[in-house]
Parts: sequence; C-alpha cells; structure tokens
Amino acid sequence: MSGCSILCSVSGSTFVYEKTAIIITLRMRAVDILHKKRNRLALSPDEIAYLVCGFTAGDVPSYQISAFLMAVSLNGMSADETRALTESMLSTGAVIDLSDIPGTKIDKHSTGGVGDKTSLVVAPLAAAAGLVVPMISGRALGHSGGTLDKLEAIPGFDVHLDEAGFRDVVAEVGCSIIGQTDDIAPADRKLYALRDVTSTIDSLPLITASILSKKLSEGISGLVLDVKFGSGAFMKTVDEAETLSRLLLSTAKHMGTEGVALLTNMNQPLGTHVGNSLEVEEALAVLEGRGTDDLTELCLHLTAHMLLLGGVVDSVTTGEARAREELTSGRGRERFDKLVLAQKGNLEALPVAPQQQLVRAGKKGFVSAIETESVGRAAMILGAGRRTVDDTIDPSAGLIVHEKLGSEVEAGSPLVTLRFSDPTYVEEATRLIESAFLIDRQRPPPQDLVAAVIKAEETIRSR
Ligand code: URA
Repeated sequence: MSGCSILCSVSGSTFVYEKTAIIITLRMRAVDILHKKRNRLALSPDEIAYLVCGFTAGDVPSYQISAFLMAVSLNGMSADETRALTESMLSTGAVIDLSDIPGTKIDKHSTGGVGDKTSLVVAPLAAAAGLVVPMISGRALGHSGGTLDKLEAIPGFDVHLDEAGFRDVVAEVGCSIIGQTDDIAPADRKLYALRDVTSTIDSLPLITASILSKKLSEGISGLVLDVKFGSGAFMKTVDEAETLSRLLLSTAKHMGTEGVALLTNMNQPLGTHVGNSLEVEEALAVLEGRGTDDLTELCLHLTAHMLLLGGVVDSVTTGEARAREELTSGRGRERFDKLVLAQKGNLEALPVAPQQQLVRAGKKGFVSAIETESVGRAAMILGAGRRTVDDTIDPSAGLIVHEKLGSEVEAGSPLVTLRFSDPTYVEEATRLIESAFLIDRQRPPPQDLVAAVIKAEETIRSR
C-alpha cells in the first residue's frame, strides 16, 4: 500500500481512510466520482477523500484531478462538500502542535491580489505586538503574486523548513513564513500548482479548501482573512467576496477555528510595486514608515484585527494604535530582520532588474479605472510569475505604478515603469498596461479600501 500520509492512503481501487482511528475500506473508481460531479450530484466525504488522498499519494493521476477541478469550478460544491474537501486536504498532512510555545497563535491570509505584500509587514508587526504567527503561505497563482515567491527574492531565504525548523523559528522570532511541505498541507501543494495551469483558480470551494487546509494545519486559534474584490481579485464584486468570506468563515468555524474577514479593495494595485524583490523593497518601506498610505493603512488594519482576535487589545481602534506603535518604534522592522536572519536570507543582496522601460499616458485626464488583473499579468509575463508549472521566476522582474486611481495626468506622463531582465515580453506588457489604465475627463469618486468586516455565520451554500 502506498501511503500519502499518516492519515489516509490509497492502493489500486482499495481506499483506506484512517481518520480518527476508524479504518474504512471502500472500492471506488475516480471516473465514477468525476461522472457524479459532472452531473451536479453531491459527492460524499469518502469520495472526495478518495480523490484528494489518491492524488496526493500519486495513485490518482493528474488528468483525472484536472477534470475534477474543472467540474468543481463549473458546478460548484455545497458547504458540506467544501468542508469535506477541506478536511481531506488537511488530513493529508500534520496539524502542528505549537502549544508548548507561549502566546496566542493567530494568522492572516489573503485570497490573492496584485501588489499585495501585506504578509511581509503584518507577520512581524503582529509578532512584535505579542502574538505568535506561524504562517504557511502559497506561491503566485494566475495573475496574483505569492508570498513565498516574494520571500525567495531575498537571496538565501529558506521557505522549505520542515516542521522542526518551522517550530524553532516561530519560538525564536514569534513568526515564521514557509510553504506547504510533504508533511504539512501536501495536497494543497499539488492541487495549487495544478489549478494554476488548468484555469480552475477562481472557484469558491477550491479557494476555501486551499486556504483552510494550509491555515488549519498551523495549530492557530484565530484567522484574519483578507478577501479581495475588484478588477485585480479573483472575486470581481463585493457580493462575490462576501459569499467567499462566509464560506471560509463557516468552514473554519465548523472545524474549530474562529475568524474574521475583511473585504478589501483590489480595483488598483496595492501600494506601487508589483513583482517579487520590488515588493520586498516596498514592504521594507512600510516597516520603516515610508510606505504609501493605502498599503500602510491596510497593514495596520489587518494587524489590528489579528491583535483583537488574539485578545491583545479590546477594539480595532486600540489595535491600530498598537500596530502603529510597533511600526514607528522600528520594532516591526527589527522583527522582520530577525525573521530573515532565522530563515537564512540576505536582505543586502536583493536583486535589481538590469533593464527598465516607461509606459506613458496616451492623453490628458484623470486615471478613472485600472484593469488591475492586466497589471498583474504584465508583471507575470515580464518574469514575476509562472505561465506553466515548470516556469522559473525572475525575482527582480515586475513593475512600479506611478499613478493611481484619481490621479491627474498629462499626455506622456509616466504611468508605469517596467523592470525586466529578458525583453521578450516587454511589448506585450506595454500593451497590457496601456489598455489597463482608463483615462477620463472626470475624476472618479474615491473608493473605500475596506468595504466590510464579516464574522462567521452558520451554514451557507457556496454556489
Ligand atoms: N490563496 C490560497 O492559498 N489559495 C487559493 O486558492 C487562493 C488564495
């Protein structure tokens, strides 16, 4: 029998699911389960676990899981199926017990955006304020960036710590950021990579199970979710983001973790820098009090909600004041330096792209809309993200946004600086940026950065 983990395993058509010490032996075929989902029938927890564990163990092939992901993307899942998917993905790995490390364990996770480097700021700020932040993150997905790719832009930074290494850094620094491993959320590691290349990213149940299977393996007691909406998010409207938030929160709650979700605006890149080493640079600017208002404000707000959830403060307002104190005192920056040192990174050697090119405004007016997904795609094709599973990332590639929503520009004003090493896709990136920026005669109304804060409710349907 080939085991995919200590908890579940598959061999041929015999499926042994060792959950809570109960061993059930079932005869199943992946094709029958796919057929059911294709025909919009609900799957049982065992059927879902059969696919997830089988794929993780290498016994169910990726072509069948690709079909499963597409069927789920198209036909959705009920809240019960979503929970079963989350539970089986979680069961492929360990849930880390950090109870011997003093302090309340709280994390935050974003559903993905453009220029979203908040984790790099929020984890050290929250740790400096007294929380323990054991963060398991993901890589770039579609047009959106990934925390692991950003950290790996710091030469030497090791995101592949095993459980013992992770525990050591969490105990020493108060926070650590790593990726999924063979032992921690391995199903998500494999499924995440497959979703990225099968156009199955923006599915509510798949996002929910992906995020929670990582986060609930961290042994945290609370989770702050930054659920993005808008032109650069997977959820384009506030309503969709709210539905995703409720599904995330109710699933987490059923599985014993309290959470809160902030619906945050992604109708323009967050801050100014998009791309891996560029975003590390910008995160440092925030930690040194030199960040843009939108990025700094969101980082403080997210940290405040973490502090509230962890009982360090009794209101969001006092949480923000505390987070600001950690920022202005330099303690947040010190904590980030400790984190980088503990994970073997060298901030002195951040790579810088050798070439750059400006994209200018075609006419005078106000920046009235930004098709932010195209901005993310432009950074991705310059080398900041992956077009295929095997693509390697250029850590220095990306772009810097000079004008944001509402800015007044002249014809020829610089809109964006492209940064790159390989010029192959510069023309395409330029076209993407030119068409992404809508310039109009009217100044657009300002938009809220945080549209709503949502707490868990009882069972809801995902689609
Ligand atoms: N973040 C994740 O970890 N998974 C997703 O599917 C989307 C955002």
